[in-house]
Amino acid sequence: PELPAACVRSTFLDFFRDKHGHRLVPSSPVRPRGDPSLLFVNAGMNQFKPIFLGTVDPRSEMASYRRVVNSQKCVRAGGKHNDLEDVGRDVYHHTFFEMLGNWSFGDYFKEEACCMAWSLLTEHYGIPTDRLYVSYFAGDAASGLPADEETRQIWLDIGVPSGRLLPFGLKENFWEMGDSGPCGPCTEIHYDHVGGRDAAALVNADSPDVVEIWNLVFMQYNREVDRSLRLLPQFSVDTGMGLERLVSVLQGKRSNYDTDLFTPLLDAIHQVRPPVAAYGGRMGAAGKEKVDTAYRVVADHVRTLSVFIDQSDVRTQRTASQMILRRAVRFCVEVLQAPQGTLASLVPAVAHTLGDVYPELHREADRIMDVINENEAHFLSSLQQGSRLIHRTLNRKDYKHGVFPASVAWSLHRDLGFPLDLVDLMLEERGVQVDRQELDRLIAENHKVKHSVKLQGFYCEGSQVMLDVLSLAELQHLGVPHTDDSLKYQYSLEQGRYVFPACCATVLA
Ligand code: ATP
Ligand code: MG
Ligand code: MG
Ligand code: MG
Repeated sequence: PELPAACVRSTFLDFFRDKHGHRLVPSSPVRPRGDPSLLFVNAGMNQFKPIFLGTVDPRSEMASYRRVVNSQKCVRAGGKHNDLEDVGRDVYHHTFFEMLGNWSFGDYFKEEACCMAWSLLTEHYGIPTDRLYVSYFAGDAASGLPADEETRQIWLDIGVPSGRLLPFGLKENFWEMGDSGPCGPCTEIHYDHVGGRDAAALVNADSPDVVEIWNLVFMQYNREVDRSLRLLPQFSVDTGMGLERLVSVLQGKRSNYDTDLFTPLLDAIHQVRPPVAAYGGRMGAAGKEKVDTAYRVVADHVRTLSVFIDQSDVRTQRTASQMILRRAVRFCVEVLQAPQGTLASLVPAVAHTLGDVYPELHREADRIMDVINENEAHFLSSLQQGSRLIHRTLNRKDYKHGVFPASVAWSLHRDLGFPLDLVDLMLEERGVQVDRQELDRLIAENHKVKHSVKLQGFYCEGSQVMLDVLSLAELQHLGVPHTDDSLKYQYSLEQGRYVFPACCATVLA
């Protein structure tokens, strides 16, 4: 019999709490408060950042944390960890997912962390050891970071064969929370869904057959705003395992979407009236990839929208939820040809799959549906207006064949609120291209408008493309600390991060 996702989650939490003396801490909201370096919570460790940095208020409860376990709601749809483009195209990246994690703050370190992880996976969950591969940090000469031989030896002692112990560099095995913040070498556990072969070459190779499941980070440094590494006051352990991926392993499924966390959602999509094409399954049956991708995108995005909207201050989520909602609506309408209202009709299925752990989803289901419906209606009418505007432009007498006027593209963006990549896509579908040079000029011109604020905890990236300017009022909604001191900044929607023009670099430094 299959282990339901709820049991997978509780087994993890119980293991660390009851067997290893960890304190169970609730998930923090997905929109972090008081940390403007982050757009969304992207990992379980985010809420503990002050502990890593040694800046925690000694009178707070957090100051007493030594061993902690939790299941954290995470969103990776912007910022340093942005998986939006992979979602739906593969079967193991989501915009919203739950991260199971255990922490040691100056308590146990590498050896105990590895032993506990191995024991949980192989003894308690019963995963066969010959399906597991382990990576460790190979060091990086340029940044003067040594290879993590200590961790390699620990895994050998645990019994991992050397052929399954693989060294990787900074990109894979040195974890960083954001462009600044706590970081350190990590060791990761990967699972081979196929088995019966040597799959070492498929580790960290973007293969759906061998998927990373658990990351154990040894927090030793803080990445400063000038990119240098500062040693932390104490060493800590920070681990993160994607619940959805673990559940797919334990339920013997090749795709996260075939687990009980997602099948009720896929079924609900299939049952909309009038009916849409069926989900082709696992990896996308031949000829149906588009439909299957759309199913996955829609199922993924409605979960994300639900956890965004269930938070009391919806307005802070506005930019992000709009982007995700629009993406979901387009896949619903254009690929699945599903009727208006489809997205909201899936919310009860989200509450059904996640409501036990997040009871607010049950309580708020009606409101979540209203918000989704309202925004969908608004976006659909913009889409219609946009299509009409494009159609009219293409039929204008002065239209130069193949080159779409930048002023019209810009007005689609500014007046109808279309993201620029959507404008590109809509034009591409009609076989035309925008006058890129002129559009870039219009964008640059628009971005001369700036607001004066002082922000803390940022560094300058003057060379970034800046796409969206928020007003001061919106900044307040985002909870970004600021004073009246003049300092110019911009916010990039595509990057999901705050971006400063080059002229601020010296001021910030
Ligand atoms: P990947 O290499 O697969 O993108 P990652 O190295 O970016 O994963 P970590 O930052 O190490 O991920 O996060 C810890 C764990 O969280 C991963 O091992 C994985 O199980 C899970 N995870 C990360 N990103 C996602 C995602 N977008 N959707 C679902 N689970 C995820
Ligand atoms: Mg990733
Ligand atoms: Mg990885
Ligand atoms: Mg990783």
